[in-house]
Amino acid sequence: MGGIKLPEYDYDVIIIGGGPAGFTAGIYTARAGLRTLLLEGASTVSQITITDLIENYPGIPDGINGLDLMQLFKNQALKFGLEILPKDTLSLSRSDTDPAFWIVNTGEKSFRALSVIAATGAQWRKLGVPGETEFAGKGVSYCATCDGPFYRNRDVVVVGGGDSAIQEALFLTHFASRVTVIHRRDRLRAAGILQKRAFAEKKIEFAWNATLAEVLGADFVTGVKISDVGSGETKTINAEGVFIFVGRLPHTSVFNNIVQLDKAGYIITDDAMKTSAAGIFAAGDCRAKLFRQVVTAAGDGANAAFSAELYIGNLKGEAY
Ligand code: NAP
Repeated sequence: MGGIKLPEYDYDVIIIGGGPAGFTAGIYTARAGLRTLLLEGASTVSQITITDLIENYPGIPDGINGLDLMQLFKNQALKFGLEILPKDTLSLSRSDTDPAFWIVNTGEKSFRALSVIAATGAQWRKLGVPGETEFAGKGVSYCATCDGPFYRNRDVVVVGGGDSAIQEALFLTHFASRVTVIHRRDRLRAAGILQKRAFAEKKIEFAWNATLAEVLGADFVTGVKISDVGSGETKTINAEGVFIFVGRLPHTSVFNNIVQLDKAGYIITDDAMKTSAAGIFAAGDCRAKLFRQVVTAAGDGANAAFSAELYIGNLKGEAY
């Protein structure tokens, strides 16, 4: 049998990130018999784990909570022998002594791997308005699932007009007495089905063509100042909760200067999830793409795993 003898190394594949993309990649590489470690960020949570209800993941007609879905992904990956370590990745570099290897450094330990799959996802974007940081955890939130129940029979505002804002606004109607969606345009970006539900929901009101100018309060939030996009006129809305869903920022700092990123910081890949660096693949929300969903992240994860398998087969001289 053919094959190339490589110097010792720790893993065939290291997956960085424990969301839908990372765990799907882990299911595929571990099942393919590749020695795989998944580094699950210790200081960040996957966005899916704070999503209340996922009702468009195929095969689960009644919908499922994000954390529960992730647990199912994880159990399936563990069954195939995926190793999981809850550690942040501090840096990534090519080995000086053997360029076939990537060195993944977690601070306490460094691992040598033949390939790396970036599945680091993205985090909520902040608005940067006065009061936002000051009142974080005191009324300002980026997670309706986590904080919604605190606002039973209270008024809240939601900022944003995308799927996240509208889905979470709908969720907040289970608790709040009034949910005002503040959006900078005169129409929503969110999917039609969510818009339809939001427009039919009596507890949801809209402040169109308006931006959040300031979060107001003393010890806790008492309201927000909003500003009209056209006239600049401001007005105050009383609210005890401010939920901000204005998009995401990719978690890609570890890959900066190693792989090519787009202007917004997302990792550029081809259709096979290959990045500009040999042996590094990317999957899920951290990569530049059109549609960020659990199902598309899972698809990316499978593709990245397959590409990594082919790449490793070539390195080992085992490719058919
Ligand atoms: P998004 O689609 O990028 O929407 C962000 C929203 O925030 C937009 O309406 C945007 O306004 C607004 N915004 C951005 N910066 C702002 C600023 N500085 N001031 C005021 N408003 C600002 O982000 P997302 O809703 O988090 O969704 C991200 C991805 O996840 C999307 O692909 C989405 O489809 C997906 N997702 C899907 C589901 C689902 O299927 N159930 C749920 C959640 C998320 P403009 O419209 O004017 O740009």
